[in-house]
Amino acid sequence: MIKIENLNVSIENKEILKGINLEVKSGELHVIMGRNGTGKSTLANVLVGKDKYKVTNGTVSFNGENLLDMSPEDRACAGLFLSFQYPVAIPGVNNMYFLKAAVNAVRKSRGEEEIDAVDFLSMIREKLKIVALDESFIHRPVNDGFSGGEKKRNEILQMIALEPKLSILDETDSGLDIDALKIVAQGVNDYRSPDRSFILITHYQRILNYMQPDFVHVLMNGRIVKSGTMELAKELEEKGYSWIEEEMVEIT
Ligand code: ADP
Ligand code: MG
Repeated sequence: MIKIENLNVSIENKEILKGINLEVKSGELHVIMGRNGTGKSTLANVLVGKDKYKVTNGTVSFNGENLLDMSPEDRACAGLFLSFQYPVAIPGVNNMYFLKAAVNAVRKSRGEEEIDAVDFLSMIREKLKIVALDESFIHRPVNDGFSGGEKKRNEILQMIALEPKLSILDETDSGLDIDALKIVAQGVNDYRSPDRSFILITHYQRILNYMQPDFVHVLMNGRIVKSGTMELAKELEEKGYSWIEEEMVEIT
């Protein structure tokens, strides 16, 4: 699905990512954990093509295509999706209009017919149930006045409406109460399939109680310094990150 090789990224001449290697295959769910400021969001943002980030070295291939050469729109149409750590409100833009425009742009790029307002509404009603939002939310401006949890559920709504192949979820679990956390986890679980992949960025092991990751990676100082399975996430929850630093000092 995606292969990241020796990715180096800087922002305003500050090197943030220092050689990321990561391969995510079809159907896999990879978790990236790490302290604040280690470059997790930078990685997510650079993959979807946010400006300001400068790739100084490395390659990313997405289903065989050179991802870094593509515009953000083309990346989305090719099946890439990012749920923002801090979803922005867009006052004045109706949530349904926004989503319908996005869904139709993706459909168009796949050579599919555009979906009309009536069919869209019935499709989105089903998906609203999955994220436990009532219909009023799609008639409001995008994220405007939404609570933290509602914004994150709206992100998951976008994901299941857009049907991406690779979903990157940047701390979608942060700040959620337990009910919202379960809804988000269930939304992801329902959406999982052998031809869909996920990169889940998180601080806490608790969302992993509700899903089954294939791999867990630790990002530290702009590099993936340790990879493992669910056991690694549990160890991090118990012991924090400093033991990994100590381990690294022993190796070097
Ligand atoms: P994480 O998501 O792991 O908490 P980030 O990727 O958000 O980390 O940030 C990594 C580092 O990059 C931080 O030191 C942050 O201050 C810096 N950074 C992020 N965005 C910018 C920016 N637009 N300008 C300057 N520095 C930035
Ligand atoms: Mg972040």
